[in-house]
Amino acid sequence: MLHLLRHPLAAHALTHLRDHTTEPATFRALARQVGLMLALEATRDLPVRSHAVNTPLEPFTGSVLAEPLVVVPILRAGIGMVQPYLDLFPDVSVGYVGLERDHQTALPRSYYCKLPPLAGKRVLCVDPMLATGGSAVMALDLLREHGATDLALVVIVAAPEGVAAVHAAHPGLPIHAAVLDRELNDKKYILPGLGDFGDRLFGT
Ligand code: URA
Repeated sequence: MLHLLRHPLAAHALTHLRDHTTEPATFRALARQVGLMLALEATRDLPVRSHAVNTPLEPFTGSVLAEPLVVVPILRAGIGMVQPYLDLFPDVSVGYVGLERDHQTALPRSYYCKLPPLAGKRVLCVDPMLATGGSAVMALDLLREHGATDLALVVIVAAPEGVAAVHAAHPGLPIHAAVLDRELNDKKYILPGLGDFGDRLFGT
């Protein structure tokens, strides 16, 4: 259930995202390009319903999207992956989940959760870096508690440890990633990775 982008343009953009000399403005543009490719892949099997129109020449029955989409970025880096959904999907709604590490327990803790109704909708949780999987698992738990059943995780770079953690907690859940990297280092950064995505996105 791990789907990887296999497109030369994705490889091109990822190489420049990894380059430590890439400036935030270029980083944001590249993240948006990769995010767009992932958005198309993650919605490839969205349900459609038939819809009749008249072309200037004759009647035609085509298809339109059957249900609205919900995208939920994990704050803050996930914000960098939202725009492609706003560009592509007319009826998208956006929820937010804010997670931070509890200093006492070292476990992720939710400090913000604002979600539209999720039942009966394709819900895509977006976060660029799937490292240990701790935040992703907590966000996916929250989304399930709020009624999401048709749920997927969309990331740019995945580490094997994060994929294993998500699949242990949510067996069968689809993960869409641009690339699967090698491993985590002892500070839980992804190798080769691209550093701190949020810092590079927001120039902090
Ligand atoms: N978050 C990041 O931004 N980068 C990593 O390598 C791991 C988690």
